[in-house]
Amino acid sequence: MGAKARSMSPLKGLNIHSLTPLANFTTWRVGGPAEWLAEPTSIHELRALISYANEQQIHYQIIGAGSNLLIHDDGLKGLSLCTRKLNGSTVDRNTGIVEALAGEPIPSLARIAAREGLHGLEWAVGIPGTIGGAAVMNAGAQGGCIADCLDSVKVISPKSNEPFELTKKELCYGYRHSRLQEEKLTVVSARLLLEPGHKKEDLALKTNMNLTHRTTTQPYHLPSCGSVFRNPEPLKAGQLIENLGLKGHRIGGAEISKLHANFIVNIDNATAKDIKNLIEFIQIKVREAHGLILQPEVKQLGFVVNA
Ligand SMILES: Cc1cc2nc3c(=O)[nH]c(=O)nc-3n(C[C@H](O)[C@H](O)[C@H](O)COP(=O)(O)OP(=O)(O)OC[C@H]3O[C@@H](n4cnc5c(N)ncnc54)[C@H](O)[C@@H]3O)c2cc1C
Repeated sequence: MGAKARSMSPLKGLNIHSLTPLANFTTWRVGGPAEWLAEPTSIHELRALISYANEQQIHYQIIGAGSNLLIHDDGLKGLSLCTRKLNGSTVDRNTGIVEALAGEPIPSLARIAAREGLHGLEWAVGIPGTIGGAAVMNAGAQGGCIADCLDSVKVISPKSNEPFELTKKELCYGYRHSRLQEEKLTVVSARLLLEPGHKKEDLALKTNMNLTHRTTTQPYHLPSCGSVFRNPEPLKAGQLIENLGLKGHRIGGAEISKLHANFIVNIDNATAKDIKNLIEFIQIKVREAHGLILQPEVKQLGFVVNA
């Protein structure tokens, strides 16, 4: 993308910024500028921004916590809509129903649920994404995933700006997959169904143990996007990479984590190009050794082929 944003007639009341560096919006800390960027704080604002983009025929894309995103060094054209300020949740400790806005952080929800005696999100405490991103990705860990406890989401489509509901069944969940990855639908909120009446102390203990396990076995101290590749089940991507002796291999400022081989960490001002090159390097090595092509789990924005 050129370093100049196209002119866009201003929309009163909506804070749209031009040429904002997106590295601050991803956990890898890489990515060039957004031609335009907005951070809606309400569903009303989000709807207005999407209507505006549609009217102006401007491409838009959604960024949650940017914890599963590789954004090109040249940045992104069009309007990037980051949901991290669209947060908040309500919890009913009697029924176990949790309603959360798209940008609500998953670790906060896991903590709130444990405090209210609701079982079902203890696995989620170490996932630094939003509930909207988790619903799209079917985020999961330690044998659990969001599809296990999600009841429905409310979405907006580019054609209809009126939010409508999609049930879990309609979302066609699979391993790190939902139909939201193929269709241009924006999640505005999610409804979870957790199990009420559990002992808070037990839930807090399990939640803390899960977090400790992750922070000791995965490189949480360095910028990353979690697991880079999907597991070619029943095999584990990390194991395949580790067995090839690739831990610690470095391109530019990006390194295959010495702690967990399915993580690429930004150790020294890595660029998106460094990371992309390392992803391709791993794919080549694994293909040469095993004849299979590892598929990235991470979503790549601004590249010629978006995965
Ligand atoms: C240290 C670390 C550990 C991790 N561990 C795990 C793990 O154990 N398990 C796991 O599954 N993942 C893990 N991840 C990856 C990541 O946290 C999850 O995939 C998470 O669900 C992504 O949420 P996000 O809000 O950051 O989405 P983003 O990364 O911002 O976006 C991911 C995709 O979802 C889309 N999207 C986001 N929000 C919306 C919305 N509201 N509406 C429509 N589309 C949207 C984006 O356009 C993009 O295509 C980890 C990441 C890190 C950095």
